[in-house]
Amino acid sequence: MAPLPAFHNEAYADFSLPENRQAMETALAQVRAAFGREYSLWIAGRAVATGDWLRSVNPSHPSEIVGSHAKATAALATEAIADTAAFFPEWARTPVADRVAIIVKTAAILRERKNEFNAWLVLEAGKSWAEAEADTAEAIDFCEYYARQMVRWANPEPLLQMPGEKNELEYIPLGVGVVIPPWNFPLAILAGMTVAALVCGNTVVLKPSSETPVIAAKFVEVLWEAGLPPRALALCVGSGSEIGDLLVVDPQTRFISFTGSREVGLHINELAAKPAKGLKWIRRVVAEMGGKDAIIVDADCDLDAAVAGVVASAFGFQGQKCSACSRAIVHADVYDEFLLRLEPKVAGLTVGDAADPAFSMGPVISASARQSILAYIEIGRAEGGLLTGGNAAPGDGYFLAPTVFTGVPSTSRLFQEEIFGPVLAVTKADDFDHALALANDSDYGLTGAVYSNVPDHLERARRDFHVGNLYLNRKCTGAMVGVHPFGGFNLSGTDSKAGGPDYLLQFLQAKSIATKLP
Ligand code: NAP
Ligand code: MG
Repeated sequence: MAPLPAFHNEAYADFSLPENRQAMETALAQVRAAFGREYSLWIAGRAVATGDWLRSVNPSHPSEIVGSHAKATAALATEAIADTAAFFPEWARTPVADRVAIIVKTAAILRERKNEFNAWLVLEAGKSWAEAEADTAEAIDFCEYYARQMVRWANPEPLLQMPGEKNELEYIPLGVGVVIPPWNFPLAILAGMTVAALVCGNTVVLKPSSETPVIAAKFVEVLWEAGLPPRALALCVGSGSEIGDLLVVDPQTRFISFTGSREVGLHINELAAKPAKGLKWIRRVVAEMGGKDAIIVDADCDLDAAVAGVVASAFGFQGQKCSACSRAIVHADVYDEFLLRLEPKVAGLTVGDAADPAFSMGPVISASARQSILAYIEIGRAEGGLLTGGNAAPGDGYFLAPTVFTGVPSTSRLFQEEIFGPVLAVTKADDFDHALALANDSDYGLTGAVYSNVPDHLERARRDFHVGNLYLNRKCTGAMVGVHPFGGFNLSGTDSKAGGPDYLLQFLQAKSIATKLP
């Protein structure tokens, strides 16, 4: 097939321009007008409503029901696997060019409906306008990027040729994949994981997060509009604890592509490895999990840039990113000055309705998330000194004040455990070596950053800071497709490098074919 034009990242809309603000306000009003609708499952090529509804609420105003999604029964989950398995040979045989065209079309539809998707992200997930725009743009990027990568794998590097033979390598799909994304990038990560598996020729059972089923339903509508065959994907909404295990252990499940917490990822990995009657393969598990990401602030660095990087990384989307900075490790020589400059910046962040662009931060995702973060704040009071925040913020939404603890010891829970909210631990390091040792003192290894003007320190960080995504003199969030392939070390995951040139290999297997020449 003809190569596609070169990939480039989708540009972000500038919401300081009146026309862009107006377009976003209009989209928010349109999406609000569509609140409360009911969404069906999609199983075996047909819409199914079970009468058992999952209600998704607006975390900025939890009395507002964004939509209700039908929940799958165990029998429907099993049917979803069986039917996508039955359809797999047909989708696998569909020419690569046709599969690629559907995914490129998906990107085009998302681009056309960008503000609408932004509005769903603001209202169902509590993203600020800018965070929502980045999420939708990333979803578009994943489609465009993986479409191009599939073209590459369909035209692999030639092999050495044995005299008298024609020697070829073909990358073919695996089978049925269960795709299980989290709620925190409810469009980008869901879309990226889904289209990566599909474009390779796998069929997919998509089990979205129970927090954000409406965005999942909206994305799946786009796939149908783009021409995806109705049986290539099943949308199997339901609680992970009720239907997750069933989907994973079904003997027809060939791979699981998971992004979420360490607890669930390790559970899936364990279940997937268990031999079972009828199981004909070692299931592949791609599991991208949590983080306890650190930013090191060296004695000699641009301290204002470091403060700005820490604030953006720690409190963007209320700290609910796997890449969020939750530990600032600061050289003793600048520790006091760092805190002096950090405190007003954090205390100046405003918290309120995500739909109102005047606020710097919106709500956390749910009442239970807020409860669990507040419990960590109580733990933090015993483990460190409270610099700012430490409480819920006013309003009916799940609002929390951005919170900073200082003098947090490396042995504490605040330093070691993923909180997944707007809580930053600051720890003093004796010198740069100590800072690196502290940064690496973690079971996780997802992102990390270093602010330093000392070339030797940057070089040491490059070598010894053991994270999948290292950033030097910049913040540790905001990975871009094709630019910062994303995935973590240690218990942060399988280092799958989403948005990178190797990602699709996880959903393909290589077949070597040697033909004796006459
Ligand atoms: P989560 O609670 O682990 O849930 C993730 C997904 O797993 C959801 O769809 C969930 O469904 C499902 N699930 C739960 N139990 C299951 C089971 N027994 N079997 C199969 N599926 C099951 O994580 P989350 O709260 O959505 O997301 C936040 C976490 O994701 C954080 O730890 C964050 O660091 C991580 N994350 C990592 C990356 C990365 O690239 N490394 C990116 C984003 C987020 P239900 O909603 O129905 O429970
Ligand atoms: Mg919700």
